[in-house]
Amino acid sequence: MTELRLEGVSKRYGSGEGTAALRDVDLTVRDGELFTLVGPSGCGKTTTLRTIAGFEEPTAGTVSFDGEPMTAVPPEERDVGVVFQSYGLFPHMTVAENVGYGLRFRDPPNGTSVDERIAELLELVDLEGMGDRDPDQLSGGQQQRVALARALAPAPDLLLLDEPMSALDARLRESLRRQLTRIQSTLGLTTVYVTHDQDEALAISDRLAVMNDGQIEQVATPRELYHEPATRFVAEFVGDNNVFDGTVRTRVEDGARYRVDVDGTTFELAGVPAGVDRVSFCVRPAALSRTVERNEISVAVETSEFRGESVHVYGRWQERPIVLRLEDASEDELTVGFEPEDAHIVDAW
Ligand code: ADP
Ligand code: MG
Repeated sequence: MTELRLEGVSKRYGSGEGTAALRDVDLTVRDGELFTLVGPSGCGKTTTLRTIAGFEEPTAGTVSFDGEPMTAVPPEERDVGVVFQSYGLFPHMTVAENVGYGLRFRDPPNGTSVDERIAELLELVDLEGMGDRDPDQLSGGQQQRVALARALAPAPDLLLLDEPMSALDARLRESLRRQLTRIQSTLGLTTVYVTHDQDEALAISDRLAVMNDGQIEQVATPRELYHEPATRFVAEFVGDNNVFDGTVRTRVEDGARYRVDVDGTTFELAGVPAGVDRVSFCVRPAALSRTVERNEISVAVETSEFRGESVHVYGRWQERPIVLRLEDASEDELTVGFEPEDAHIVDAW
């Protein structure tokens, strides 16, 4: 049972000004949650994880587990299991010895013997009977499951995973992440998962934080994040999107909508805050439809990709890149529209 909290956490590397890797990060990961940190390379994900584990000391702020500050607690006493991108298995040890290595500082939980615990963990990660093998006799996906078993062996309060799948191919990644979410929810273990892959983040998380340049842009459920991005950065980072900048003209007669000009074309939008002159708004590709006859734009098609269920169309409207998802598309130019409620405001001045 662990709730994890970061309060005002900043981290600078080097002396003086140095590199500001984290800037005033506040974060609460609830007990039993699978929480993901997602963001582009260099945004501070690994630094956050290392700070939680105690491998890095924050320049300012506190990390606490269940309200207990961890500042003075060294990493080996934090009850944290960590899995890194590189599996970090010991090549000269068998699979069983690698899993057992996780128990060198701690006894197995509930009075089980070390051997029983190793067998239990190998079964949990679907590697029963493989204990006598050497790591180099296993595939990448199997090795990563050994690394997971090793991290879980001492029954940690908190599981931290840093891009654990990024060295694996796409299909294996998908099956491994289903396995991981099953294990995580079976154990009810508070978990922080780091990835730069936004599809993966949306797929596995209870909630997630989008990071950018050492700061948190938004914390939300996958659905909230997708449909209600709080910032332009989130709108553009998470999933394909079409972002427009417009000037607010007049309120529509019924009062709930505004007319907004984008380069001479007028759109009608819902959700515009009162008293602003300019807005940025986004419209998801799937909301741009050939059958909606409002807010129409004419798109010059540049490329289209057949994806089985749909065709992803990439084109331009007035020099702006536009992405569409259509059932089919073969024209060079096509007209699509969107409902006022399907636009989401991401910035307003
Ligand atoms: P991410 O995991 O999101 O790719 P990191 O947390 O690794 O990002 O890095 C955040 C920033 O801190 C980057 O600018 C990176 O170059 C810098 N950084 C990370 N580790 C160190 C270090 N040991 N010394 C100096 N700068 C570092
Ligand atoms: Mg990293």
